[in-house]
Amino acid sequence: MEQKKFKTEVSELLHLIIHSLYSHKEIFLRELISNASDALDKLKYLTLTDESLKTLSFTPRIDIAFSEGDEKTLVVSDNGVGMGHDDLADDLGTIARSGTKNFLKNLTEEQKKDSNLIGQFGVGFYSSFMVAKKVEVISRKAGSDEAWMWSSDGKGTFTLTNAERDSQGTTITLYLNEEGEEFANRWSLERLIKRYSDHIAFPIFLTYDKDEYDDKGKKKGSERKVEQINSAAALWRRSKSDLKPEDYNEFYKNSTYDSEDPLLYIHTQAEGANNYTTLFFIPAKAPFDLYHADYKPGVKLYVKRVYITDDEKELLPTYLRFVRGVIDSEDLPLNVSREILQQNKIMSNIRTASVKKILGELKKISDQNPELYTKIIEQFNRPLKEGLYGDYGNRETLLSLVRFKSTTEEGFTSLAAYKSRMKEDQKTIYYLAGGNEEALKRSPLLEGYKKKGYEVLLMTDDIDDIVVPSIGTFEELPLKAINKSGAVDELDKEESKKKAKEGKSVLKKMKKALDKRVKDVVASSRLVDAPAVIVVDDNDPSVQMQQILKAMGQTDMPETTPILEVNLESPILKKIELSDDENYIAELSNVLLDQALISEGVMPKDPADFVKRLNSLLSR
Ligand code: ADP
Repeated sequence: MEQKKFKTEVSELLHLIIHSLYSHKEIFLRELISNASDALDKLKYLTLTDESLKTLSFTPRIDIAFSEGDEKTLVVSDNGVGMGHDDLADDLGTIARSGTKNFLKNLTEEQKKDSNLIGQFGVGFYSSFMVAKKVEVISRKAGSDEAWMWSSDGKGTFTLTNAERDSQGTTITLYLNEEGEEFANRWSLERLIKRYSDHIAFPIFLTYDKDEYDDKGKKKGSERKVEQINSAAALWRRSKSDLKPEDYNEFYKNSTYDSEDPLLYIHTQAEGANNYTTLFFIPAKAPFDLYHADYKPGVKLYVKRVYITDDEKELLPTYLRFVRGVIDSEDLPLNVSREILQQNKIMSNIRTASVKKILGELKKISDQNPELYTKIIEQFNRPLKEGLYGDYGNRETLLSLVRFKSTTEEGFTSLAAYKSRMKEDQKTIYYLAGGNEEALKRSPLLEGYKKKGYEVLLMTDDIDDIVVPSIGTFEELPLKAINKSGAVDELDKEESKKKAKEGKSVLKKMKKALDKRVKDVVASSRLVDAPAVIVVDDNDPSVQMQQILKAMGQTDMPETTPILEVNLESPILKKIELSDDENYIAELSNVLLDQALISEGVMPKDPADFVKRLNSLLSR
């Protein structure tokens, strides 16, 4: 017998599961059945593709039994792919996905109490320890003739011993604790299997003793019965007209770890040149790993109902990684490899059609059900924006799907709605990107646009600065960032020219004083109250964007110098105009530049210098 320790994160996870999911302890059964179903899927696939297993005759099934005696137990077994010695030690001793580990690490105490959040990633096998004081797993790997038993009380160690098993598969025995006793019962098991596992594609049998009574109602004995509890049909292959919204919702919750109904389901059964079925879901909440590089893809691939993979990121474009569901093709070969998959014409047709379908449904919702669409946007606006950057084929639809905050509207607005509100003389869609909504709303740059009655879109996602310039135009209207040099004199060309002429001497003085700190000093026709503001060259990233890129570890960026846009009406500018004292001019100019940067959330490079200048000015 070998005794081994769990990896540390398993102990952590165990603790977390037991405390967070306590009120949902019954989900352990869903987890065990789902593992059994995966094991059956894997073996079914191997018998079709692996030479050494082709002769294995096998009728996939899951069996559940219990004992109500003094020692209450629950047994879940499958005749699937099974686990060998090392699989038992590794798979039941670690958490496979690094994303899960990181996710766990980053949870706050508050979040740890939220069972929805925890339930979102598969807690898996370990949830058994919520209801069991001891768990024994006897498993024999397909193709091998030795069996092993894994056993643990979930308190830090497990043992591995030689065991017996007639054929391939896994038998899990839970020795129920006080919390779990209630599950050694026919009715509660039936209810749970129906609720959580009805759509598992393999039959689930429950073994129980049925009491028999005589005419007088006296118990005369009992008979052992084995009854199939679930309907065991791949839901997506059933006709759409047979299915109710509840069926889809249950299927979704059973096949993901989400406890909330999805916002939307999209079921497509295509026949003709390509034969396939797709069933997609839009979750109510963004998956926890949506922005992790090692996110888990949400779409499973089947070929003729045989499960192929749940780990293929190319089934849908990256920006649709929040979509959950199933693609089941009739035309792909079963032993399709990842390489084949990625260049396969059939697959690429399914993918293209699926994207069109999903975006089309979203468009429909956005037109017909704004309330629901707002929920979708609150979660998935950002990934849809990513699509604008990469998916040119669907650019028009994506442009109609993305939403933005604005200076004049509550909530989100679309580009089309913005256009419909534009002033008659307005020829440009204005936006300001970088930073949160509150900070953007305070930007002095907005003053001039407000005065003219022009709406400005406020772009608060960190990727807007990259995505929006790539849009260029919307229905022939150019999009302009108001904090870029191209927008400086655009609002009022005549006025700007006049100002530039008037201010020639001040601008020159300031430019000389600021020297290399600025690319240029220009006269503003947009500022009303503020004395100065930062803009950047059309081709440079905004100052906030530069900060984001730095925070992301891009340190080799060339330092970009800003343009200082000044308000000639400001009394400070008048002071510069009237002064010949070079020191004084330098102090004023530098402080103006620094405070313009501070308003953008950027600390002066040399705070001590800034304070010195400010003090000198204050003491004058
Ligand atoms: P998950 O199912 O999310 O991967 P689990 O902790 O439930 O996490 O299971 C860990 C691993 O153990 C599985 O990925 C699988 O490889 C293996 N496993 C669990 N149950 C079974 C089973 N009944 N048959 C074969 N392998 C299993």
